[in-house]
Amino acid sequence: MQHWKDFLKDEAGMQALGAALARVLAPGLAIHLHGDLGAGKTFLTRAMLHAAGYQGRVKSPTYTLVEPYVVTLDGRPVEFMHFDLYRMGSADEFIEAGFRDHFGAGKVCVVEWPEQAAGLIPPADIDVFLTAERQGRGVELRASTALGVSCLEKLHLSPNL
Ligand code: ADP
Ligand code: MG
Repeated sequence: MQHWKDFLKDEAGMQALGAALARVLAPGLAIHLHGDLGAGKTFLTRAMLHAAGYQGRVKSPTYTLVEPYVVTLDGRPVEFMHFDLYRMGSADEFIEAGFRDHFGAGKVCVVEWPEQAAGLIPPADIDVFLTAERQGRGVELRASTALGVSCLEKLHLSPNL
């Protein structure tokens, strides 16, 4: 499956999507989260981390640009980097901070506002598009790489989460 679309009527639906994604995370997977402020990008990341077993607080990396976590995938610890690039400065700053080194290094990278680092980070394996619709959220998942497709195939998402 390369493409999946649904309407999540409430937070519980978004939690379920996060839990579903947490089950198919793989080392090296990059997920880009698209959507306006308040669309649910941080909420979805938090749901993924908690479903993947992280028990602490998941704060928005608004000012730090990235928060690192470790999750257990198939019994092995895997670094999970949560980026929020909304306030990213220059490309030089991004590169000097070593942020590029996190990508393609066997870590899970989840990126809010990936557009800010266009050309600096590799394309996503999975793009997630979130839109505020009525009281809920429209969500669209697109896989663009073999790794992304294999993850989405494992999702077994029901048409209505
Ligand atoms: P972003 O990181 O995209 O700026 P946040 O995740 O910080 O947005 O905030 C999203 C808000 O949307 C949260 O207050 C959350 O409770 C709410 N939310 C998430 N999913 C849904 C949903 N399916 N329906 C309604 N509200 C939702
Ligand atoms: Mg956010």
